[in-house]
Amino acid sequence: MLVTLSLERVAQICHGRLVGADAIISSIETDTRGELTGALFVALSGEHFDGHAFVEQAMVAGAVAVLVERPVNVSTYVLVADTREAYGLLANHIRQQFQGPVVAITGSNGKTSVKDWLAATLAHFVPTLKTQANLNNQIGVPKTLLGLSAQHGAAVIEAGTSFPGEIPKLGRYIQADIVILTNASGSHLAGFGSTRGIAEEKGALISTAKPDATIILNADDPHFSYWVALAGERRVWSFSFVQDSGATLICQDAKFFPNHSDVTLLLNGHSIPLRLQRPGRHQVANAMAVCLAMLAQGYDLAEFLSHLSVPAQVPGRMEMLTTKTGALLVNDCYNASPKSVEAAIDVLALQAGTSWLVLGALGELGEQEAEIHAALGRYAAQQGIQHMLTLGPVAAIAAQAFAQESKAGRAQSCATKAEIITFLADLDQHNAVLVKGSRSAKMEEIVQQLVSQE
Ligand code: ATP
Ligand code: MG
Repeated sequence: MLVTLSLERVAQICHGRLVGADAIISSIETDTRGELTGALFVALSGEHFDGHAFVEQAMVAGAVAVLVERPVNVSTYVLVADTREAYGLLANHIRQQFQGPVVAITGSNGKTSVKDWLAATLAHFVPTLKTQANLNNQIGVPKTLLGLSAQHGAAVIEAGTSFPGEIPKLGRYIQADIVILTNASGSHLAGFGSTRGIAEEKGALISTAKPDATIILNADDPHFSYWVALAGERRVWSFSFVQDSGATLICQDAKFFPNHSDVTLLLNGHSIPLRLQRPGRHQVANAMAVCLAMLAQGYDLAEFLSHLSVPAQVPGRMEMLTTKTGALLVNDCYNASPKSVEAAIDVLALQAGTSWLVLGALGELGEQEAEIHAALGRYAAQQGIQHMLTLGPVAAIAAQAFAQESKAGRAQSCATKAEIITFLADLDQHNAVLVKGSRSAKMEEIVQQLVSQE
């Protein structure tokens, strides 16, 4: 990233004070392992590190100055109240120079999926900057925005939240031209109290968007009308599976197959057939969001429709693998929220052969933990899943509910991953296994054992 700013200007943007001589910086870095020649080094503090400990090292490595929260023993520094906020304000300054459309995406599920899919579709038309991997927090968002340059024609930024008040900050840094809000459901309930609390947090991306922004909403989400009200004068476009919803884009018909979906979308009275090359109803919702975001930027449907048919494959999200013994393995271990577990169960239910749901506990659910796990067990039974294996005492609640609800299905709660692996180690091609759980459950260790060639 190249920027040209004087330190006096940096101090002004960050509401800080320059100590030492003014000079020009040509980049902004937060890591002493990066290229620091000509840079402003921003001393960020986290749980496990404090950037202030590295300021002298940064100057030796060629930094012009450092941005800090307390006086330090170097010749030139900019003193601010909060370096994290200052980093965001500098990123917003760069964003304000950018002429192209900036799309911001938030929601409980599907942010990365939509982000990668939209960025890949846009990249067929313009050089597109996107959030790398899942860098969607108060450090990742500014880092991404600082990557904007005159060479880019568009930017797609993922905004996540792990504590109340994070999205309002990110929204102010991003100042989106287009907002996509995929949905709000019970992920991270523990910090937000309720799904309403989550909906309010996500909604801050709408109220911080530009006054002439387009807001793309899920009309089937219970919080839809609340978000419409937040949009005020901004243009609202919506997507829905409900025929008479009045949404801008409606899924008129969808046929779900093990590896793809055949969908008919309805836009302005026109039916649009679309084959999505990956399975699952959730991908149809994501496709509609991507489609509206392309239309909002003025692209012609006929030009981008073919690119829309291949959803981005994000590692660890419903990856279709084969085990050493030939069973299909749907690897969805990256993380789990209640809605994403349901989406994954839907995909498992589409597969041929005997179905196995392997579930690790979902984290951060607060006092609804038991109720949500039980509901997921029942959901799996209702979708006709035949075997359920769970890991540990919390996920065992799901196994218990599954056993009560299912007529023919069998459930087993296991204490270790090794125990689960013994159940799956010999399954042949007549079986389909879904492995899913929260990040903390590290369910990928099961996938690695079943898939690796060693
Ligand atoms: P994170 O909060 O971890 O950044 P995210 O919102 O970026 O998550 P993804 O990484 O795209 O979401 O997907 C997470 C999980 O949700 C995956 O299992 C994915 O298959 C599933 N998923 C993707 N889109 C949807 C959707 N629209 N509805 C429900 N589940 C979805
Ligand atoms: Mg993500």
